[in-house]
Amino acid sequence: ETARIGVTGLAVMGRNLARNLARHGHPVAVHNRTAARTKALVEEFGDEGTFLPAETAEQFVASLERPRRLVVMVKAGAPTDAVIDEFAPLLEPGDMIVDGGNAHFADTRRREAALRERGIHFVGTGISGGEEGALHGPSIMPGGSAESYEALGPLLEDIAANVDGTPCCTHVGPDGAGHFVKMVHNGIEYSDMQLIAESYDLLRHAAGLAPAEIAEVFRTWNTGRLESYLIEITAEVLAHTDAATGRPFVDVVLDQAEQKGTGRWTVQTALDLGVPVGGIAEAVFARSVSGHAGLREASRNLPGPSRSAVAGSGFADKVEKALYASKIVAYAQGFHEIQAGSAEYGWNIDAGAMATIWRGGCIIRARFLDRIRAAYEADPSTPTLLTDDHFAEALGDAQDAWRDVVATAARIGVPAPGFSTALAYYDSLRADRLPAALTQGQRDFFGAHTYRRVDRDGSFHTLWGGDRTEVSA
Ligand code: NDP
Repeated sequence: ETARIGVTGLAVMGRNLARNLARHGHPVAVHNRTAARTKALVEEFGDEGTFLPAETAEQFVASLERPRRLVVMVKAGAPTDAVIDEFAPLLEPGDMIVDGGNAHFADTRRREAALRERGIHFVGTGISGGEEGALHGPSIMPGGSAESYEALGPLLEDIAANVDGTPCCTHVGPDGAGHFVKMVHNGIEYSDMQLIAESYDLLRHAAGLAPAEIAEVFRTWNTGRLESYLIEITAEVLAHTDAATGRPFVDVVLDQAEQKGTGRWTVQTALDLGVPVGGIAEAVFARSVSGHAGLREASRNLPGPSRSAVAGSGFADKVEKALYASKIVAYAQGFHEIQAGSAEYGWNIDAGAMATIWRGGCIIRARFLDRIRAAYEADPSTPTLLTDDHFAEALGDAQDAWRDVVATAARIGVPAPGFSTALAYYDSLRADRLPAALTQGQRDFFGAHTYRRVDRDGSFHTLWGGDRTEVSA
């Protein structure tokens, strides 16, 4: 018997992906560096479908039907290269290696190019949804050759999440496109989480609500336009009571957020591409600030207002508007990065299709994504989501409340970097004139960097150290 597909790397993600495949009736070869994991999988879940366990790489490869489809689910980085080096010599032209780990897209581009020389398709694939998603249907973002997607697409679409009959999986584009989109997805996730955290903080300190009351607010929001997995779990976490102390769970957790790196990559890549993603950057920095315990301790007695509850009734509605508006900005920034990456690397990514495959399976799944899909359907080449009819109207409707929330946060000393930067981005884009003109003047003064004029073509320099006449540069 041969397997239709194989999975090597059977930690939480690989194991659940293999089970998902088997449950859908696809015979799956399974392999892991440490054979005990392979054995445990078959012992525990062997009755869920057809598993073909392999102890060695040779056995594993021999058990796959051709062209071979080999999914690698190991720790990202050097382990992925080690596994590729182990398997590639055993493969033949036309075979496919699918890397489902959280690889950096630049690594994926490098690996794809090297394997393409040997006729092997390398399919860098973003998989979102954590271990539950891997088992019950993740959002899958495969990059690679169109030919490889013909052989892999049906299998991947079969095990992906499904929303309204549409699988949350599509061919993203060549080489690193899939991992790039997965990276930006994670960056947006950081931003979404930060905005929710700021909403909680303001409801707590500006409106004086208790965690259980705030949980109710989030439950209500989850029945409206903010309906999403993250809002839903926020209510669950806020309503939870610590068994040991009887206190709200959120009050006994150390307030230092950790990160694994994909948010940071999103910002680093945005800097390289020259794309402003302040919402994502502030979310990454907010986690960073929280983790600097010594810095925070040293600064604790700096002067500032006490966090008195000043907000009147109706504040929660204002926060909802600030959250929705800031979320629109975060997604607009993330999609800008996707479009810039697509242009830089020639990927031809369909932005609306990305919104479509994020509607289910992944952490940022939300009703909202249907709106983004619709916006790109209406205008596939729009430079920004902000000007889409629906989003522009929502921003217009939200802006008074949004400004009020940011002002309140500043007045009572509650940090709201996500809300603030989103509003600043919005106001920057709508401004007639930006002070960048002054910046250009300064640059010309100290470095003769030249400037352009509003009324004439060309580059100019003013003789600042001399008689201040203007010369053509
Ligand atoms: P881990 O990232 O913890 O990786 C453990 C697996 O990697 C084990 O199977 C381990 O084998 C194998 N491995 C490590 N080093 C080597 C090596 N040098 N050679 C061969 N195999 C090696 O597993 P996860 O299941 O958490 O994640 C797998 C991938 O999926 C990662 O890239 C991760 O970033 C990504 N991912 C994870 C998500 C999650 O929620 N956990 C969500 C989405 C993606 P052994 O048993 O022998 O040690």
